[in-house]
Amino acid sequence: MAKNNTDEDKIYEIAKRKGFFYPSSEIYGGLTGFYDYGNIGTAIKRNIEGLWRTHYLGLGDSYCEIEPANVMHEKVFVASGHLKNFTDPSVRCTKCGAYHRADHIIGEALGKSVEGKSESDMTLLIRQNNIVCPKCGGRLGDVKVLNMMFPTRLGAEEDTLAYLRPETAQGDYVNFLRQFNILRSRLPMGLAIIGKAFRNEISPRQLIIRQREFTQAELQIFFDPEKINECELWEAVKDYQIRVLFVGDDKEVMLTCEELASKRGMPKFYAYHLAKQQQFFTEVLKFPIEKIRMRELSKEERAFYNKIHFDVEVYIDVFKEFREVGGTHYRTDHDLGGHGKISGKSHEIFYEGRRFVPHVLELSLGIDRILFASMSLFYRGTEGREWDWFAFPESIAPFKYAVFPLVNKDGIPEAAEKIYKEIKSRHTATYDSSGSIGRRYARTDEIGVPFAITVDYQTLEDGTVTVRDRDTMSQVRRKVSEIK
Ligand SMILES: [Zn+2]
Repeated sequence: MAKNNTDEDKIYEIAKRKGFFYPSSEIYGGLTGFYDYGNIGTAIKRNIEGLWRTHYLGLGDSYCEIEPANVMHEKVFVASGHLKNFTDPSVRCTKCGAYHRADHIIGEALGKSVEGKSESDMTLLIRQNNIVCPKCGGRLGDVKVLNMMFPTRLGAEEDTLAYLRPETAQGDYVNFLRQFNILRSRLPMGLAIIGKAFRNEISPRQLIIRQREFTQAELQIFFDPEKINECELWEAVKDYQIRVLFVGDDKEVMLTCEELASKRGMPKFYAYHLAKQQQFFTEVLKFPIEKIRMRELSKEERAFYNKIHFDVEVYIDVFKEFREVGGTHYRTDHDLGGHGKISGKSHEIFYEGRRFVPHVLELSLGIDRILFASMSLFYRGTEGREWDWFAFPESIAPFKYAVFPLVNKDGIPEAAEKIYKEIKSRHTATYDSSGSIGRRYARTDEIGVPFAITVDYQTLEDGTVTVRDRDTMSQVRRKVSEIK
């Protein structure tokens, strides 16, 4: 696949140098598929997570966040099917010994998805199309499936009894019965988790896009399946347009929620939440609508238990392609039903005169991918200036303000530090007193700080400062008290 690596390389160079993210255990040569977030990356990540909380927990009265353990009981993954089915097809080069994701290299060679094909079908495709090792051109072995979960030993016990969770979702399902009681037995009930998930990927790639340890933000909504075509807040979204790519189509279409419901048979409860997913990107994160789409997955691509499945995809400029950053999954009673069976504890509830197992609508997002998508989307290269810069929206930027003393004498640093402390009590801010003002602007542009405040001699006289706007580079004088 032809792609221009320049911007990807440049972003990674800035990411490492400025503290967005870099290889984990770096002083020992790094660990494939693991990255550490530095101070700037962590600040941006926390901002995105905070925005996610506000948006998603605001969707319902009985929606709240919980924090289950990362290590979970083996039986959880018997019930969920992960022990049996959470596998990836792997193929080993007979010459150099490198492991590859079989579906990826076949997909790239043939220019189409082979997701869902069996081991023997994939092996056959490799033979028929003479697909060789992308690394050395050597002959590939047979395709084998490998389980992607990380097993772990507990205490001194020899047998594996637990696993690092491969998705946060299971933490919500195993807590359903208890939380349903705690939250006074109301539906729909939403349980949200922002946390780590662990997958032993065969070939982690594209920086923080496909890692072995990553952060998910997921909201599991438990609801009455008989009410899937009802939606209390339908009026608010019925004329709202969603950018959708349907199976079999090669172009996205803009359809209102009403059209999705009446013409495409999409349940209203699902369409409403699909709208809310899109709004998180367009209205909260300020991604342009043309960079986002909700892609419907075919039967072969989606998990068998997902009755409706649209991925959230963002166009990543540096990869020149859309990448999945999340999904909206109608998982029916697969999860609670499975845990009911394996645990022996019925997950049926008695609600409004009926006895049933609630269904689940999962709104799932990958925080690392969103962070990288933001870096790609708001990266401006050296457009209009001599240094690289990011045009992060204020809500995502690692700091809202940077404060500079013009010179390091004559009482200016003291005044600047006082102003910095005052601003920092209300906003995120950083202080920089070294090098020329031009160099300092460059440094803050490189991490996407929207506003830079310079304290100079006039500040001492009338309490005004220079405020420089990152995007326009224009400067205005303002009273410190006028800075919002
Ligand atoms: Zn090879």
